[in-house]
Amino acid sequence: MMPRAFPTSGWIEVICGCMFSGKTEELLRRCNRARYAKLQVALFKPSVDVRYAVDDVVSHSDNRLPCIPVAHAPDILKHCGDARVVGIDEAQFFGPSLVDVANRLADDGRQVIIAGLDQDFRGVPFEPIPDLLAVAEYVTKTLAVCMVCGAPANRSQRLVHRESRVLIGASDTYEARCRAHWDPESFDSQQEELPLRTE
Ligand SMILES: [Zn+2]
Repeated sequence: MMPRAFPTSGWIEVICGCMFSGKTEELLRRCNRARYAKLQVALFKPSVDVRYAVDDVVSHSDNRLPCIPVAHAPDILKHCGDARVVGIDEAQFFGPSLVDVANRLADDGRQVIIAGLDQDFRGVPFEPIPDLLAVAEYVTKTLAVCMVCGAPANRSQRLVHRESRVLIGASDTYEARCRAHWDPESFDSQQEELPLRTE
């Protein structure tokens, strides 16, 4: 067995939930908390996600930290250097290879904090989050507020009709919905009822 890079054991934390549930906000909070303690932090996001900024992880409320955009999960191993804490945002875009990467980082003695969508817009578990939940030491499910009724929401309602599983967007393409108000088949009618909004 290879010696660990750090003397103490590492672990994996997963923060998952629907759109607008504060996943990125929570990831940034934990990364900042480590920075206050002078721990070296490396933050990654998939290079496909360039919604707000190419080199920052940015929450919907515009908190941000510099990050390294990478195309594939194994690239994280190449770029994490001596970081004791490794943050990974939008994990659902990295695919199944992220599970092995996260395990290797934690085995190396690092704190690995992963944020991502747990379900796609059809309500299907979004890999690799289900497998990461199984191997993680800590799991946090974040809930949003249903934009129709105000109840706790754990589903992402897509407002525009696209077949593709991945559709990068924010408030103009998705809403958080509770079970009662989430309907994956209702794009077109919803689109007429709900005007596209910008923040
Ligand atoms: Zn509702």
